[in-house]
Amino acid sequence: MIQGRKYYDALIVGAGFSGIHQLYHLRKIGLSAKILEAGDDLGGTWYWNTYPGARVDSELPIYQFSDPELWKDFTWSEKFPGWEELQTYFQYVDKKLEIKKDVFFKSRVVSAVWDDSIDNWTVTTEDGRVFHSQFLLLCTGIGPSIIFPTSRALKLSRAKSITLRGSLGLTTLREESRHHWNWCDGRSSHPNYRSAPKSNFFWLCPRLDPKPSLSATPEERELFYEDKWEKGGFHPWLGAYVDIFFDQKANDEVYAFWRKKTLERICHHPPELQEKLAPVKPPHPFGTKRPSLEQRYFEVYSQPNVELVDVNENPIKEITPYGILTADEVEHAFDVLILATGFDMVTGGITNIEIRLASATYPNMFWIYGPQSPSSFSNAPSSVELTSEWIIDFIKYMKEKHISSAVPTEPAQHAYSEMVDQLGAKGLWFKAKSWYLGFNIEGKKVQMLQFPGGIPAYEKLINASAGKNYEGFDLKRYDH
Ligand SMILES: Cc1cc2nc3c(=O)[nH]c(=O)nc-3n(C[C@H](O)[C@H](O)[C@H](O)COP(=O)(O)OP(=O)(O)OC[C@H]3O[C@@H](n4cnc5c(N)ncnc54)[C@H](O)[C@@H]3O)c2cc1C
Repeated sequence: MIQGRKYYDALIVGAGFSGIHQLYHLRKIGLSAKILEAGDDLGGTWYWNTYPGARVDSELPIYQFSDPELWKDFTWSEKFPGWEELQTYFQYVDKKLEIKKDVFFKSRVVSAVWDDSIDNWTVTTEDGRVFHSQFLLLCTGIGPSIIFPTSRALKLSRAKSITLRGSLGLTTLREESRHHWNWCDGRSSHPNYRSAPKSNFFWLCPRLDPKPSLSATPEERELFYEDKWEKGGFHPWLGAYVDIFFDQKANDEVYAFWRKKTLERICHHPPELQEKLAPVKPPHPFGTKRPSLEQRYFEVYSQPNVELVDVNENPIKEITPYGILTADEVEHAFDVLILATGFDMVTGGITNIEIRLASATYPNMFWIYGPQSPSSFSNAPSSVELTSEWIIDFIKYMKEKHISSAVPTEPAQHAYSEMVDQLGAKGLWFKAKSWYLGFNIEGKKVQMLQFPGGIPAYEKLINASAGKNYEGFDLKRYDH
């Protein structure tokens, strides 16, 4: 060890749910760890996303840590809380766990270099600070890398622009009616996920019904969909029959139900507008892109200051000082331009860091809520905790067995990646150009970026490896 250098057992990048969980549990097993965070407070997604209407779409109480210490005396005021309440929650978590004393804020990590001779990472921040650790834990989230349109000149001398860090431009529209969601009982609690039945595919509050939808009678199906619609939130999507994700006929039926409900709301719009908003032929199978939990989105089109311009038919040619010029040479003038252009989802946080190694593998590096994990196909805090606990157990095992580095074998990596591709191909996801597959980034490889087999299957896989002394990893022992 070189004199004067600061070594840690682990360096964690990111101070959202994942990073906080890792830090707290590493401390519990007696290891030294620090978080490096680009922002200047805790919260991750909820530190950055503060645009009007940014709010949770998993239902409370599931969108929080499951440790009773972290929910028993915190009272949520809404079922789908906004960013303000999430920020308050993270301050509460800090009060309980004293997380901030081990965080370096305003510390954007730009590179990580692995040294095979000492089995250590050297991590450098944007402002040139250097840190060293045995383990590198990337808790960078799925959306820290925002997409700013690079196409034709953004000459914004007159027009004002707002970049929404959230992909949810629609949420700005739903803000006004948020109290509709108010939850009468805001006392905290936390369901026990570990005992949840297997049908709880996404580990979200609603549960997919494993029965094939077409085995029910049309009347039963209608009642089933009505019930889900009444419940709202994710219920009509992730509480539906599981085969809507795999069977086109089942999917057509749920789309037809959605369309019927939506047309009831927009029956006063002109027929062409109705067809644009709720077309007879769906642009992609229902639910293969994340449905937005809006409440007034479709009604907004009846406002005199709102006009829908379909850029599929009439693409954007240029952004001008006054607004947007479309291909038909019409300049649409407005006061504010909102760039709800999304993120380099799932992989962007990791590829932003220059990671250098001697081989194509990644020793002692783990990520949570990242590529090919259940990430956005699950409720974040629940799947974060599952993965984080598994990593902590692995690190503990390595320390106890005097193992200095662990790296996934190439055959294990390929087998896992192939399995994810095959699971993805079984469903209808590839019929949609979604960020789930990387379609929103020009030139990005199109592949299933999440594990689509459901949380219980994922848990079984990772536990099977652990149960066989971490099968699929090459483990290197210390020489002495
Ligand atoms: C508006 C919005 C609503 C959402 N609602 C839900 C929901 O209802 N349910 C759900 O399950 N998920 C939701 N999500 C997804 C959300 O990302 C996760 O719920 C959760 O925040 C993931 O936590 P995390 O700690 O893994 O990552 P994040 O919360 O994204 O935190 C990652 C942190 O890493 C930091 N970081 C990244 N790169 C670097 C770097 N190079 N150096 C230093 N720091 C870095 C970032 O600054 C950030 O603070 C929502 C996302 C958005 C944007």
